[in-house]
Amino acid sequence: MSEQLDCVVVGAGVVGLAVSRALALAGREVVVLESEPHIGMHASSRNSEVIHAGLYYPTHSLKARLCVQGREMLYAYCNLRRINHRRLGKLIVATDPQDIDRLHGLREQAVGNGVQDLVLLSTDEVNELEPQVSCAAALLSPSTGIIDSHEFMTALQGDVEGSGGTVLFDSAVSNVKVADNGLRFESDGRPFACRTLVNAAGAKAQDLVRSLIAGVPQRYLAIGHYYAYQGKSPFRHLIYPLPSDGGLGIHATNDLSGAARFGPDVRWVDAINYDFDDSCRQDFVTAIRRYFKGVDENKLAPAYTGIRAKLAGPGAKVADFNIQGEAGHGVPGLVNLFGIESPGLTASLAIGEYVRAMLA
Ligand SMILES: Cc1cc2nc3c(=O)[nH]c(=O)nc-3n(C[C@H](O)[C@H](O)[C@H](O)COP(=O)(O)OP(=O)(O)OC[C@H]3O[C@@H](n4cnc5c(N)ncnc54)[C@H](O)[C@@H]3O)c2cc1C
Repeated sequence: MSEQLDCVVVGAGVVGLAVSRALALAGREVVVLESEPHIGMHASSRNSEVIHAGLYYPTHSLKARLCVQGREMLYAYCNLRRINHRRLGKLIVATDPQDIDRLHGLREQAVGNGVQDLVLLSTDEVNELEPQVSCAAALLSPSTGIIDSHEFMTALQGDVEGSGGTVLFDSAVSNVKVADNGLRFESDGRPFACRTLVNAAGAKAQDLVRSLIAGVPQRYLAIGHYYAYQGKSPFRHLIYPLPSDGGLGIHATNDLSGAARFGPDVRWVDAINYDFDDSCRQDFVTAIRRYFKGVDENKLAPAYTGIRAKLAGPGAKVADFNIQGEAGHGVPGLVNLFGIESPGLTASLAIGEYVRAMLA
């Protein structure tokens, strides 16, 4: 006999937790099932921890809408719950005068997305803010910031549990099937049934439903390495080059203790393996030196890696988030979250609202 549940969310990453919170606050009885022993052990704790402004994504895309909306929700939530964060601002730098046009294009894209606060700066203006940065011009994005993603996820978990929900660890979900009144599945060798199942399994989201629905989108994996920069951070703002194939370019971020780190690069891989490959060091030095001539290679220390779960492969146009309800796949009660790469952390609270509205 299966245990009957109302709403199951698979995955306790930041997106699964934010969706669970929105559903629990709306009165649903939520059970979060996570295969790992803690919250956020995959993409959600292996990223840049940047609160993105929403500049890069095509206007009207889910990424643009949910990032802009999610960013404001996130700042408000951080203030309310006293989550460690800082609105540092970021500089997107054109290191070659020929790339200044791309900065103008980016500003137009941002305005189309409702991000009105970008300021174009000359070299001198940049150097007043950041004496160590070399560039031909830059865009300042004042609404970009950083967040302690673990504190954020812990607060989300607290809200889920405080609204009557449950978060269970070491509880992998498998064998998801259509049932009379929703879905059934197994976890820990036991059968369960539920009215609603939200698939927030990150890089494993496709695997979870491959045998259940047709047309599961292809998943591509790209690892990114991060190097810590020892000593005092050379920067007060986040420093980003112009975006490159598959990523936003090897950028400099400060963490909340003020220490700098550089990353992530983009390397296409076939499997999830977080091992750090230090052979990328020289590529990092070359990329960083374009905007930070004084980089000291000896201060770069391998820090961590993260793996992006993408819906577009090498050289292909960047894909949007793919959030599928019944209208998208034909199974009542099932919501799939595919390709929730960056800016998924920034957008998480807005994604939660989006899924709640989809299921209302
Ligand atoms: C290198 C990198 C840099 C990034 N930088 C930023 C940034 O600066 N700003 C930003 O906004 N976004 C950023 N992102 C994106 C952001 O990290 C992700 O969008 C977000 O973490 C996705 O959260 P998630 O919950 O969907 O996935 P995950 O965090 O991967 O969580 C999925 C969870 O599902 C669990 N799971 C999988 N299968 C099962 C199963 N069968 N049963 C039970 N549980 C299961 C996993 O164990 C995992 O905990 C970055 C991502 C990467 C990789």
